[in-house]
This record gives sequence, C-alpha cells and structure tokens, in this order.
Amino acid sequence: MSVACSLDPYRVSDGRQTGVCGTNHAVTGSCRVWAALLAVVAVCAGFVFRDVSQAAPPHRVVLISLDGFRWDYLQRPAAKELRRLARRGVHAERLTPSFPTKTFPNHYTLVTGLFPEHHGIAANVMRDSALGRFATGNDPAVRDARWFSGEPIWVTAETQGVRTAVYFWPGSEAPIGGVSPHRFFPFDVTTSRAARVDSVLAWLALPDSTAPRLIAAYFSDVDTDGHNFGPDAPETDSAIARVDSVIGAIVDGIDRLGATDRVDVVVVSDHGMAERSSERAIALDDYVSMDSLEIGDWSPIATIIPKPGHSGYVFNALIHAHPHLQVFRKGDLPERLHYNSGDRVTPIVAIADEGWSVGTRSALAEMAPGRVYGAHGYDNALPSMGAVFIAAGPAFRSDLTVPPFANVHVYALLAELLHLRPAVTDGSLDSVRVLLR
Ligand code: AMP
Ligand code: ZN
Ligand code: ZN
Repeated sequence: MSVACSLDPYRVSDGRQTGVCGTNHAVTGSCRVWAALLAVVAVCAGFVFRDVSQAAPPHRVVLISLDGFRWDYLQRPAAKELRRLARRGVHAERLTPSFPTKTFPNHYTLVTGLFPEHHGIAANVMRDSALGRFATGNDPAVRDARWFSGEPIWVTAETQGVRTAVYFWPGSEAPIGGVSPHRFFPFDVTTSRAARVDSVLAWLALPDSTAPRLIAAYFSDVDTDGHNFGPDAPETDSAIARVDSVIGAIVDGIDRLGATDRVDVVVVSDHGMAERSSERAIALDDYVSMDSLEIGDWSPIATIIPKPGHSGYVFNALIHAHPHLQVFRKGDLPERLHYNSGDRVTPIVAIADEGWSVGTRSALAEMAPGRVYGAHGYDNALPSMGAVFIAAGPAFRSDLTVPPFANVHVYALLAELLHLRPAVTDGSLDSVRVLLR
C-alpha cells in the first residue's frame, strides 16, 4: 500500500516560514545598520520560532458514510472497531435523519445542513418542471448542478482555499456553484472497499501543501444487505463486519501515519432500516386509477403528482384508503417533518407506517411470501430510521455519549472542524458544540 511509509506531512510550513525570513539578507558597512539588521533578524527568528512551535498544524477531517447503518447496529458484535472509535471519541445515541429517510436527500442534508425541502434533493426520484426527472441511477441528472441547491461542505471549503477529496457522495459529481471537490469520482458501486480505503490513506499521507484537508468516502454494503435480508439478518451482520473493517483500516492507517492527533474522523449514516414483508403491503392501484397520477419516489413513501384536473380525485381516493397509509396535501404535513415547501415536494405525499410497503399490486408481488426485507424512507422520528454518528480526533471530547441530534447540524460541525465560514443553514453549531473539546 502506498501509505506504509513514515512521514511528517506537516514539515512543509516550517520550510516556507524560514524561506521568507531568509530572503532578508542585506550587506551594509555601518554598525548601526548591522545592529538594526540583527534586531530585525532576531525579531524574524523569534517570529519563526513562535510560529513553528505554536502554530498547530491544520487538522484534517475524514468523513465516512455507512449507508443504512442503523444507530443500534453499533451494539452488534460485528461493530467492534466502530465501538472502539466511539470510546476514543464521542457518539450520539442516534443521529436523527431528515424526512424522507432516503439516501440522496439525507446525504445531501449531511453536507449542506439544509432540510430536503430546502436543498432541492427532496427525494431519490423526483420531477422538476424545468429539468425533467431525477433518479439516483440517472447519471446526467446526478451530475447536473441545477438539481442541487445550498452549499455542500466541499464547496464551502474549496471556495475558502481548503482542498477536498470525495470518494463518492451524492452531489459530489455535480459542479455545484461551479465548484467541484479537488478529487471526486463517478459513482461505481463495484469499486472495492479496499480501493476506497487506499485512496483515503494515500490522501492522508500527502504533505500539507497538496493534501486534501477534507476527505469523504461512502460505503453502501449495510444498506444493500439490509434491504435484501432485513436489519436482523446474518447477512446484514456480515455487511456490518465489512464496513467495520473499513473503519478499523482507516483508524489504524491514521495511527501508522502518526497523525492520530491531527485527523478528526467523523462516521455518519444517512438513515436506519426497518423490517418489511409481503404481509404488510398497500397496493395503490386498489384505490386509485394510476392514469390519474405520476409517482416520483416509491415505497415506503409515495410522492404523488396528480395529472391536471385530478388533484381532488386522487386525494379523496387515497386519504382514507388504508389504515397504515398517511396521506397529506403539500402544506399539511406535520411541521416537524420539514416537508411542506420547495418546488420538488409533490402536491400529495403518502407515508406508509413502519414496516409497510406502498406500491402497485404487481410491484409488491415481487416480495417473496414469508421472506423478510428491509426498508427506509419512513417518518424520521421512528427509532428504526435513526442513523449513526461517531467522531474522534483532536477536536473531540473522549468517551462521551450525547442524546440524539438532527443531521442538519453536521455541516456546521464540519465547517468548525475545518475553520471555515459556514453558509447559512437549517442547523447550528450550538446544537453540537458539546461534542467538542
Ligand atoms: P436507497 O434507494 O435510498 O437505498 O439508495 C441507496 C443506493 O443509492 C445505493 O445502494 C447506491 O446504489 C445508490 N447511490 C449511493 N450513492 C450514490 C451516488 N453518489 N450516485 C449514484 N447512486 C448512488
Ligand atoms: Zn441510504
Ligand atoms: Zn437504502
């Protein structure tokens, strides 16, 4: 691995300061001038001495997302490296995701500090009157900055002269505000965990002059197996073990670089996971003509755009359709969901109760009877939707557990770690200051 070398990436700034001072060489014939020159040199030397000895080298921040890692997975036997990190630093009982508890909306909330109704990624699948259709698998859309409002932390950083590198993150492929991370990659789910870890450690091994100070990386194993087998399945435990090794490799790699006291590691997830099965299914086409509407995101929410002239019909057909389906008109969702404004919040939003699926009769038939699956997207107040938050490093207190907090505050925390002027967001540093030394 390219990072097994020993290094001190922070020596470069010593050389730069000495160099500046070293340019002040001048020759004169006068004692007075010599004395004056010596005084200048002494002051300069003193300045350099203070600067070298006192100026803390800038921290670097490693932000890791473990998609679909439910907060309580931390107590599973497989999560031993994550528990070790939590003991070193801080962790939240759980991180409260934003609604809807889906991947793209929450990843983009984590890096912008904005609720999905404000940052434009209101769902994994959505429609915009000018831009057309967005879906997570639609490459041109995920690379089109016009979908993404707000200011992701890598844009805040790059515009303030702080270099960033992102190994997959929703939004990182789009030049938001005309700015991209210094390094980023087109999303490719087949890229091995080892390749991602090697890149993170190689970036950490770079000297200050070229190293990214914010590094982010994303791992989807736990979400994928959670969907396919359910949160309590042994397959999901295996996925937890795989991403746990990733955390162990990164933490150990930082230790080997001798950089433990200069790197803050922040581990988050976007949402949790709830069990679902074919016994708890709501077929929308049992209640409403599918010709009268368009659906964006499917299951366990349905974001519904009625065809022109059909709004009343669709709403009346669904409002009392099923006891486990809550149906709202835009503007009438509970305030705590923060999902009533924004152009891409659909006119009708249907939310299935925990563990229920909503779909068409034919789509729901794909679930094998008696088999357990996993889903997320439900009400963000449900404990099963809770995400994980762990952080350790020089900025963080140690062995501290804090009550749940909302994921809109993570951006402000990252900005503080990197000493950046934050954009205005829905979150605040005050909500998470307790985590810091
Ligand atoms: P979800 O449907 O909410 O479970 O989304 C999870 C899936 O989103 C992952 O399994 C990935 O396939 C996909 N995904 C995650 N990150 C990205 C990305 N940056 N670009 C495109 N797709 C992504
Ligand atoms: Zn996810
Ligand atoms: Zn998922």
